[in-house]
Amino acid sequence: MPEPRTLTGWGRTSPTAARVADAPATGDAAAAVEAFVAAAGERGVLARGLGRSYGDAAQNSGGDVLDMTTLDRIVDIDLQRHEAVVEAGVDLDRIMRAVVPLGLWPMVTPGTRYVTVGGAIGSDVHGKNHHRDGTFGAHVRSIEMVTPALGRLVLTPESHPDEFWATTGGMGLTGIVHRATIELMPIETSAIRVDGWRTDDLDQTMSLMAERDHEYRYSVAWIDCLARGASLGRSIVEFGEHARRDELPPGKRSASRALRFNPRDHMPAPPWVPSGLLNRFTVAAFNELWYRKARRRREGHLVAAPAYFHPLDMVDGWNRIYGARGFLQYQFVLPDGEEAVLRRIIEELVEQRAASFLAVLKRFGPSNPGPLSFPSPGWTLALDLPVSFGSLADLLDRTDEQVVEAGGRIYLAKDSRLRPDLLEAMYPQLGRWREVRDRMDPQHVMSSDLMRRLPALSGPLAGAGASTPRRRGTP
Ligand SMILES: Cc1cc2nc3c(=O)[nH]c(=O)nc-3n(C[C@H](O)[C@H](O)[C@H](O)COP(=O)(O)OP(=O)(O)OC[C@H]3O[C@@H](n4cnc5c(N)ncnc54)[C@H](O)[C@@H]3O)c2cc1C
Repeated sequence: MPEPRTLTGWGRTSPTAARVADAPATGDAAAAVEAFVAAAGERGVLARGLGRSYGDAAQNSGGDVLDMTTLDRIVDIDLQRHEAVVEAGVDLDRIMRAVVPLGLWPMVTPGTRYVTVGGAIGSDVHGKNHHRDGTFGAHVRSIEMVTPALGRLVLTPESHPDEFWATTGGMGLTGIVHRATIELMPIETSAIRVDGWRTDDLDQTMSLMAERDHEYRYSVAWIDCLARGASLGRSIVEFGEHARRDELPPGKRSASRALRFNPRDHMPAPPWVPSGLLNRFTVAAFNELWYRKARRRREGHLVAAPAYFHPLDMVDGWNRIYGARGFLQYQFVLPDGEEAVLRRIIEELVEQRAASFLAVLKRFGPSNPGPLSFPSPGWTLALDLPVSFGSLADLLDRTDEQVVEAGGRIYLAKDSRLRPDLLEAMYPQLGRWREVRDRMDPQHVMSSDLMRRLPALSGPLAGAGASTPRRRGTP
């Protein structure tokens, strides 16, 4: 029996202890996972990937956790079908290093390569191409998993639509994925061609994104969240495409050079960084410098894929620069037509001087059938906020209420503090998800700190509803 180990999410808030076992790297992985699930104690079991979810989704206080990162083989790459069969603990970094030289790229990558395939399925992650390609789960061709009640399953969206979509975005609560087949896209180079604009305010930022994002596979705006008044919402908007071979300088067009992918990350965050280095003043100075540095318009700029998609991966352990108390990442989505609410929320954050080092605005396209999948059509804003900021809890509670009233929701993979009674209003299909989960795991053997914190994930909250803001349009 392993000794309890303290686990946190990437935001380093809410540490809790669990017995952590490694998934066996050799032998019959499905049988080992099955035995692990069958031996669950009272506090249940949970799979954990690289712990890049920001809150408590990959923690199971007092219970058992299976560290999947030892199950990290790439089993097969099919160049004709553009797909890879992988074990669930392999991360996107490893997959990219294997497939990019072959001219392939994962259909969806979040802002870090250090996520496992199991974690990407559990959170149904999205990237800068959601408006075009949807989520990671939309490109999973099959899932092999172990469930507490139904045993081993091989799920495809066609064979088991309910179980497949309950698992995709199901935050690890339907069972443990040990293998998956994922779709890849063909690419000619490992470079991204970027067209960038510096905008003056939020209206310009949003119009540019709404008008032009359909022309590009990738789109994102980095908002200067400290600019106020007439400059509120000024941003750097970047649209990107995988560069073609003939767009590279002539000396770099050979297949081996064009598809080179060897990011050298791991520049350590300096150990001398004082706790709370990121405060209102340093963040303001950084944002000002970074905004001024950008040209008003820059087209056809070639950028290496890691720098475009995963700039934060270059600094090892960057999450420590927020100081010992950690930080919250807060991400919500608002439907199209609710731009005024987005503006109000940004205004309030700016007004309250809630320093955000990173504020990222993206467009989402259509949702997928996953009842707990976060993306829905509209605008999504992601912010980093140090927990040392004074009235953060009140500020975010108020923001949640505006989000839910406008028909939006927050992202569970990033959450660590949502008021429990708001979950059901944010995820109207939660009841349907619970029905499917209850077929897969009626005893709630799969459990997590997230689930205990938000009891609506287990079952209806007694007495909920009285103070719950209604979604617009609901009777
Ligand atoms: C710098 C940074 C940038 C990010 N950018 C984005 C972004 O752009 N878009 C986005 O969507 N997310 C983003 N994220 C969040 C991240 O992609 C997700 O939290 C992802 O789930 C983390 O994967 P992981 O392997 O670390 O999983 P963990 O954090 O370990 O686990 C996440 C969830 O998946 C479950 N899970 C893990 N493995 C399995 C398995 N084998 N079977 C069943 N369930 C499993 C866990 O139980 C847990 O509920 C970002 C995170 C960071 C740190």
